[in-house]
Amino acid sequence: MIKSEVKYMSQYKGFYKKSIAERLEILKRDRHINPDYFGSLPASTYNNMIENAITTFELPMGVSPNYCINGRQIVIPMVTEEPSVIAASSNAANIIKQNGGFTSSVISRVMRGEIAFVNPNNPQAIQDFIETHQEALFDNAHQAHPSIIKRGGGVQSITTRHITKDDNTLVIVDVLVDTQEAMGANMINTILESLRTLIETNTQEHALMAILTNNTPECLVHAHCTLDPSTLKFSDTIGQKITEASLLSKLDPFRTATHNKGIMNGVDAILIATGNDWRAVNAGIYSYHSRNGQLEPFTTWSLNDEGMICGETTLPLALGSVGGSIGLNPKVKLAYEILGFHDVKSLMECIACVALAQNFAAIYALTTDGIQKGHMALHARNLALKAGAKPTEVEALVHLLLKQPHLNSDTAKACLEQLKATHSS
Ligand code: NDP
Repeated sequence: MIKSEVKYMSQYKGFYKKSIAERLEILKRDRHINPDYFGSLPASTYNNMIENAITTFELPMGVSPNYCINGRQIVIPMVTEEPSVIAASSNAANIIKQNGGFTSSVISRVMRGEIAFVNPNNPQAIQDFIETHQEALFDNAHQAHPSIIKRGGGVQSITTRHITKDDNTLVIVDVLVDTQEAMGANMINTILESLRTLIETNTQEHALMAILTNNTPECLVHAHCTLDPSTLKFSDTIGQKITEASLLSKLDPFRTATHNKGIMNGVDAILIATGNDWRAVNAGIYSYHSRNGQLEPFTTWSLNDEGMICGETTLPLALGSVGGSIGLNPKVKLAYEILGFHDVKSLMECIACVALAQNFAAIYALTTDGIQKGHMALHARNLALKAGAKPTEVEALVHLLLKQPHLNSDTAKACLEQLKATHSS
């Protein structure tokens, strides 16, 4: 193991047992985070971000420190209210790191928009115009958003697609755009509206709408990892069980939904932390993994010829590292510093690995101890807080709660009373 890795691992060992101040100290040393980014969103900013703003809404932000992606040690920032997400992610990432870490790469990164003509008078005329006026169309698109050309991006292709159903004919003009570091929704919509006017004027047809799509099969990232079963619990059966869990997630739609939800626990947490439009990314992932007519699991696990467990995922991740609210929220800037951010493609790679880790954590627990063991320890903290425990009482109350046969709010209240009575006597 190289020296820097040993240093990295020793710093983050037992991170979850440290105080918030100690964790921040480690992050400041290791990730060089800027203390200015700990501030809240000022009213002068959030009042301009949305309509009718009244305040901000807090969620916990934490880190998952054990990721090794393409040989780099990465700390993943996460925003989530679900107690087990970061614990599961960190544990899985650590196991995967000990097995060589993740490998991830971007397959393609192009966004798509569409100009839709529904039952035009002359569908062929639209297609002919698009095919014979490519230069004028490209010029028009580039004039609509010239700065993206300077940044090395811009429109990649303008083509038509026909959809016929019953008595209806739809002509869709597909516009593929390299949006560089931006997610590009506004950029694409500006380009589409300009192209729409040009096409309408020249064809005398009227488009119903012009809008980007959140179905982004041209914006794909792949991640995989390999685990030696001998490094896992129940090593003689775990490989088989994990592949069976994968099979179950493929064949049983009721399991598919939960398998994927667990993956999105981690994916959404980093999307929120990095200021990304998580609704857009969710729409993209679900569209891509339903493209064969049925929702499929976002990950697959198999055994290779050497008996190693191989996990992989391919996800469409239409992310941005600029634009939207990214530059406005100091906590988002903090997230990028924690990540040691390079560029949007490396962020895509990180998120695909988070998906794989989160899924491994779930199926490893489910096929061995079950998830309640780990979940209930964390759930007990929430119950303790809801029962009204003071910060100094939480640890003792959690300890007491975990010895009870039934973990619920009544038990928490009763245990807190018991604890207070013991202390006052
Ligand atoms: P912005 O409108 O904020 O545009 C991003 C801008 O960042 C670019 O236009 C560019 O402007 C600037 N920029 C600076 N550096 C770069 C770089 N290296 N690469 C590319 N651009 C750069 O955001 P988006 O167009 O990305 O749109 C995302 C927002 O749109 C999100 O808030 C999303 O929620 C929202 N949205 C989503 C929709 C959906 O998903 N269906 C629909 C509508 C909106 P310049 O070159 O002028 O500096």
